Amino acid sequence: MGKIRALTSEVIAQIAAGEVVERPAAVVKELVENAIDAGAREIKIEIRGGGAKLIRVTDNGEGMSPDDARLALERHTTSKISSAEDLFAVRTFGFRGEALAAIAAVSKVRIVTCREAGSPGFEIRVEGGSIFQSGETAGAKGTTVEVQDLFFNVPVRLKFLKSPGTELSHIADTVARLALANDSVRFQLFHEGRLLAHYPLRPQGSARLAEAMGREAGEKMHRFGARNGAVEISGYAGEPGFDRANPRGIYLFVNRRPVRDRLLHHAVQEAYRPLLPKERNPVVVLFVELPPEAVDVNVHPSKGEVKFVDPDLIHRSVVGAIRRMLEESPWLPKAAILRPEARECEGGYSPAFVPEEIPLKGLESDRPQGDSALDLFRGKAGYGQIRQTYLVLTSEEGITLIDQHAAHERITLEKLQEQFFEKEIRKQLLMVPEILELSLSEAQAVLEHLPDLDRMGFSLEQGGERTFWVRAVPEIVAGQEPLLVLKEMIGEISSWGREADLNRQFSNWIHLLACRGSVRASRNLRSEEAFSLFEQLQNCVSPARCPHGRPTFIKISADDLDKMFQRK
Ligand code: ADP
Ligand code: MG
Repeated sequence: MGKIRALTSEVIAQIAAGEVVERPAAVVKELVENAIDAGAREIKIEIRGGGAKLIRVTDNGEGMSPDDARLALERHTTSKISSAEDLFAVRTFGFRGEALAAIAAVSKVRIVTCREAGSPGFEIRVEGGSIFQSGETAGAKGTTVEVQDLFFNVPVRLKFLKSPGTELSHIADTVARLALANDSVRFQLFHEGRLLAHYPLRPQGSARLAEAMGREAGEKMHRFGARNGAVEISGYAGEPGFDRANPRGIYLFVNRRPVRDRLLHHAVQEAYRPLLPKERNPVVVLFVELPPEAVDVNVHPSKGEVKFVDPDLIHRSVVGAIRRMLEESPWLPKAAILRPEARECEGGYSPAFVPEEIPLKGLESDRPQGDSALDLFRGKAGYGQIRQTYLVLTSEEGITLIDQHAAHERITLEKLQEQFFEKEIRKQLLMVPEILELSLSEAQAVLEHLPDLDRMGFSLEQGGERTFWVRAVPEIVAGQEPLLVLKEMIGEISSWGREADLNRQFSNWIHLLACRGSVRASRNLRSEEAFSLFEQLQNCVSPARCPHGRPTFIKISADDLDKMFQRK
């Protein structure tokens, strides 16, 4: 008997489902897009258990006939296109006819749909891809699609789901994106019966912006717009200063479709290049509108990627539109002057940077045993400073050069690690608590990690749905925009895994604090200060490297000097 056999249709469907439905938020996206395609003006999204237990989307759109409802659940069935040419003229979100089938293959689906108020509705239930019940029912005009026990028949997928809070934050983010792009539709998002987000109909687009991204975004983001032939660019871009450590504040839409597109992403970054330090990212909502034939949306089953027929034109138009707004804005000179020196951290903290030593597993010394590399610090004889950056120490035995900033960062990191081990990072109470306004998904993530943030020195208390009171901040950053640091830390939570790597996450946070906490403009050090720095560096567990791996000092012994001058 040969070894090759055909897969059963059930397996084929599950494989296909993997591409469309990677997590609950993807299901929400598909169902809401279907509702919008059906002309809904009101969409209600109900979630239980972070979406793993239940996702229910109810719309007041055109509904389906019983036959259509049955067909809709099969693979490659759609009412949106009928020929390959149609692909280049799609104005709807859907067209592949895959989503419902894919979702039904990996969950228990129930659809209730009704085409006209007053006429009977139709109900259909599917489990693991096969219909097991259907019939007439009462129903209001529109459609409800209910997805229960997602991945109940795909244990591997189930295992990869993160905590309900994390999944919910992805869902909230997805709904925020959809709401931003569809301001003629009213959205409500519920979790466990509680209203989490409401996007009412508002005459002003900027009101929705604040609802989706927080009040601060509403104030610090500004409208831009431009037309270039058939291409229309519009959106909101944040002032420099309202920037972030990660690129998650960049929301891109092509013909109202949320996309992840490198070209657009690059164009947005490019527009800000003269204004933001390299490791910072702007906050931008970008809408690109162009004729359907000028863009291919059929690049990937999740429809998150696109191909432009004229990529250069798009790139230029986006950079131009955002730059013009940035250049005209009155706040610009101030921001441009303030920025560069505010972040002098060399090496730069990058969230992708994973420190090699994980401090929570116990500290290991890289200090050479016996003949210590730091011995030169003793018997100091002379001291000098080069470009307010390098310290020079001379002694009978040679010269030691120290990178002032790298050394300081190393010392700060170890201080923080020690505090963290002992109990928690040392805090400074704020006389007047600060208000922190977050997006819904951030707020969700923060709620889940309140005790963790507290261990890091940030004491928060929930004030409203997505506002928090900041009552204490880590001493180490108290003097330098602690809320910005806090926001960076919060930004990282959404990329966190489960319990298992919590140590690594803490370690990341401690590095971030150390980096931000040792932001010192280059300055002259008096010799006492310099010697105190040497001494503290000497007491470090790993004195030789800064947290980013650069050397903190370089030693040239008298013997080395002899060699260099060819005395031997
Ligand atoms: P696609 O959206 O790519 O066409 P789907 O599997 O998402 O594929 O949906 C299949 C079909 O089911 C759609 O083409 C549409 O006709 C119908 N449908 C799905 N959801 C709804 C809804 N909420 N209201 C009305 N019709 C719907
Ligand atoms: Mg669809």
